[in-house]
Amino acid sequence: MRAREISVPVGNAKKKANSVPKLEDGFAQQDIISVSQFSRENLEHIFAVAEDMRAIVKKQGSTDLLRGSVLACLFYEPSTRTSSSFIAAMSRLGGTIIPITQGVQFSSVSKGESLPDTIRTLESYADVIVIRHPEMGSAQMAADCARKPIINGGDGVGEHPTQALLDMFTIKEELGRIDGLNVGMVGDLRYGRTVHSLARLLCLYDVQFDFVSPEILRLPLDVMNDIRDHGLPVAETYDVADIIEDVDVLYVTRVQKERFADLAQYEEVRDQYVITPELMAHAKDKMVVMHPLPRVGEISNDVDADPRAAYFRQMENGMYVRMALLAAVLGKV
Ligand code: ASP
Repeated sequence: MRAREISVPVGNAKKKANSVPKLEDGFAQQDIISVSQFSRENLEHIFAVAEDMRAIVKKQGSTDLLRGSVLACLFYEPSTRTSSSFIAAMSRLGGTIIPITQGVQFSSVSKGESLPDTIRTLESYADVIVIRHPEMGSAQMAADCARKPIINGGDGVGEHPTQALLDMFTIKEELGRIDGLNVGMVGDLRYGRTVHSLARLLCLYDVQFDFVSPEILRLPLDVMNDIRDHGLPVAETYDVADIIEDVDVLYVTRVQKERFADLAQYEEVRDQYVITPELMAHAKDKMVVMHPLPRVGEISNDVDADPRAAYFRQMENGMYVRMALLAAVLGKV
């Protein structure tokens, strides 16, 4: 691949069946498994409610919109932001939580209980369940056996739809629009589920993509094909310097160490990209640097004071967006 070459995706093209229903009649009592469920109207609704939620939190801290409702958080993988922002979101909406977030080793999962049985148990106590699990497809599997709504909080290398919602909300808040933007995505595009969800969701808009990764961490073919199906311009390169002057959004990601079968391969690519003030000197005045976090060296701490560094605002937005989503799924907005 040469610098910014228009790429031909690697591997065999095989279209994935889309089994998750679209949210044509709104969010009430629906599973949230994949960004392929959302329309622009769905996003605009969530964004508008998230803005209201932010105003409520800033003004009075909480509301009783979901008083009496219970959220179960079932996390089979580590999490800081997704779990705590869902917990905070439910608390600020007046609801309560069953937090299985400190490690399923303290639940009957460690006794060998199956995912369907754990889901059946939690849904007899809770109104909605957020699940994070290392296997792709696990959230769908949970939804298939559940009567209550399931929200995908990250399914292995698959998707992370609620992160994509907060990422889109942040882009809109920071830059005032999504249409017409040039979005650069950097780092682990292969295993980064937030990249997969965000890239797919951006396809609802008129955007242009620049992908930057090492060869072994290029964007998966199915995501690339979704972008192509929408007819959006896409380029790939190995070097952030090739795109830094052009992008409106620089979405930086961590190399997902836990997904590598061969740690020697991880060591080869781990420190390939670091966003520094020197690099930022070439970026537009009005652009944003985003990161789903945690960062492990991809963005120098010296960038934090740059007004274009939006990752901490992005993280805070996660709570407002998840408040909006919970209220929508429980039929209140
Ligand atoms: N927190 C995000 C995720 O759960 C990103 C990451 O872990 O790098 O996918």
